[in-house]
Amino acid sequence: MEIIKTRQSRIDQVDFENLGFGEVFSDHMVIMDYRDGEWGEARIVPYGTIEVFPAMCSFHYGQMIFEGLKAFYTRTEAINIFRPQKYHERMNRSCRRLCIPEVSYDLFINALRELVTLDKEWVPKKKGYSLYIRPFIFATDSFLGVKVSETYRFMIITSPVGAYYKEGINPVKLITPGEYIRAAKGGLGAAKTPANYAATLLPAEEAKKKGFTQVLWLDGIKRKYVEEVGTMNLFFFIGDKLITPPLEGTILPGVTRDSVIHLAKEWKIKVLERRISIDEVFKTAKDGRLKEAFGSGTAAVISPVGEIYHNKKRVIINKRKIGPLSQRLYDEITGIQYGERPDRFGWCYLI
Ligand SMILES: *Cc1c(COP(=O)(O)O)cnc(C)c1O
Repeated sequence: MEIIKTRQSRIDQVDFENLGFGEVFSDHMVIMDYRDGEWGEARIVPYGTIEVFPAMCSFHYGQMIFEGLKAFYTRTEAINIFRPQKYHERMNRSCRRLCIPEVSYDLFINALRELVTLDKEWVPKKKGYSLYIRPFIFATDSFLGVKVSETYRFMIITSPVGAYYKEGINPVKLITPGEYIRAAKGGLGAAKTPANYAATLLPAEEAKKKGFTQVLWLDGIKRKYVEEVGTMNLFFFIGDKLITPPLEGTILPGVTRDSVIHLAKEWKIKVLERRISIDEVFKTAKDGRLKEAFGSGTAAVISPVGEIYHNKKRVIINKRKIGPLSQRLYDEITGIQYGERPDRFGWCYLI
């Protein structure tokens, strides 16, 4: 792999005690180009601007995908990339949906390992902090007709990030989005692609203006079943069962969702992947059977839901506090990520 190192590291300008999310970027990045039917060699270059043509087709028609995973500085001073195989699998699934050529696991993990190793000083040492890794692929043909591109660029950039919630885990306030939908069956809902986010910006802005943290998406047809939150999958702990919407093509198959399911099953909690209507959420919240609700995602890990608004009605969940199961899942997942708890599922890739 060709590596061109930066002449002047920017690391001294970074306040590692006060990191936000995705605001600063490490010294280097990976670039790998696809042409003539194959991926070329990956190279590492200093982080910086890239030159592309204004007619680059992904600007115009959105043929692109991305991923988001994290590396952690562990107790034993190793760096742990968490579940890279699972994120890679999903990346290729997104590629297939967007007619983008897949990237082999070898190419993916080698590029990732080289980049994180070169920028290892950028992995924050503070507990709760991590190095966010953003691989992405975009179509690069310079052509304004609508068609599948013949050339692509794969890149990886990384960003040291702080704890997602600065004052500890605060339960979020969600609102259902009225007329808007995020995805419909057969569409792009299960692919990690920018178009899904573009569709959610306006509803999310309107929700924020009304004082809510995020939108709680309902299914696109009946507007009845709960799907997910902007960047998180959802779980409801009702009675002794943990319920989460099934992967039927409209929601993103979260890696954190998968980790939660594995742990809950290990703890002998019944996990049901089934549809759950917003009415069931309200009803079980009112009669006390809904004990906890939480979102799961790479950025925040576990994010308790404290309130939901729907059709001018409101429910408060677990007195707007984090519940014991949410806390236990958060502690266990972060414990494994920081190498403090045994990695019995083979989730850790240490470098
Ligand atoms: C990335 C993402 C998630 C969470 O997935 P993780 O793999 O757990 O980070 C959930 N919903 C959407 C729409 C996403 O893009």
